[in-house]
Amino acid sequence: MCGIVGYAGNEEAAPIILKGLGRLEYRGYDSAGIAVSDGEGNLQVSKNVGKLAALQDKLKGKLPTGTAGVGHTRWATHGGVSTLNAHPHTDNSGDIVVIHNGIVENYSEIKAELVDRGHMYRSETDTEVIPHLIADAVAGGLDLADATRSALGRIKGAAAVLAMRRQEPGVLVAARIANAGGVVIGYGEGAMFVASDLPAMLSHTSRFVFLEDGDVARLTPEGASYARVDGKPVSKEPQTIPLDSFDPNKGRFEHYLAKEIAEQPEAVLDTFREAAELDPP
Ligand code: GLU
Repeated sequence: MCGIVGYAGNEEAAPIILKGLGRLEYRGYDSAGIAVSDGEGNLQVSKNVGKLAALQDKLKGKLPTGTAGVGHTRWATHGGVSTLNAHPHTDNSGDIVVIHNGIVENYSEIKAELVDRGHMYRSETDTEVIPHLIADAVAGGLDLADATRSALGRIKGAAAVLAMRRQEPGVLVAARIANAGGVVIGYGEGAMFVASDLPAMLSHTSRFVFLEDGDVARLTPEGASYARVDGKPVSKEPQTIPLDSFDPNKGRFEHYLAKEIAEQPEAVLDTFREAAELDPP
């Protein structure tokens, strides 16, 4: 299990994202990265192998500025542990930025098709097909949310995805396909959050929406709208989880047993991940 964190609001995004990633460190990871939109047409991406502290060292004195961004802690499944393979990943132009937990099972077939069409593939990851697919859909006239839905319609496997686009500053698109770790949307005051798990957002809000398999959320500082991958809109009301009753070990579940049952798909994925590390493809 690795971590995703996103923020769209009015405060500096980078410190909030890095703190949120720190609260997800218990999930295990091998590298970390961040992308921040400065609202003036620049998306600044920075990543590093190793612990979050290594990324923070790299950013010392030059923290990217801007009020919307995404951050990721990676636990490699496809491609070695390297800065190039760390997330975020981008399309050719650098306009689309994506972080992803999980596995794109049909990535090699999509990658071959993308490369044939002139996309430059930079990493060894399965993830990189996603920003390229989104870029194609954007080139066809879709906005980030519709383009992300279109891209997700192509991929097989389990995925938690968070995407940004240089031309849509302040917009984050989050999605959950099957079970690659949860995706939780947090409602703040003039700010929206997204993360793999509640601890990343706890000091910011106590109102949350948990994405279901096939849900896609479009976030701006003002709020969120939801649709299914096929585009059908869905309405979701945030539930309040009082901070004083929150036990990070139990998460949103009333009993440890319920949490363990719900986490079985992730546990299986992590077991395969560990097996792949011992015996890389
Ligand atoms: N499959 C992706 C990779 O190897 C994501 C791994 C993860 O869940 O962190 O980069």
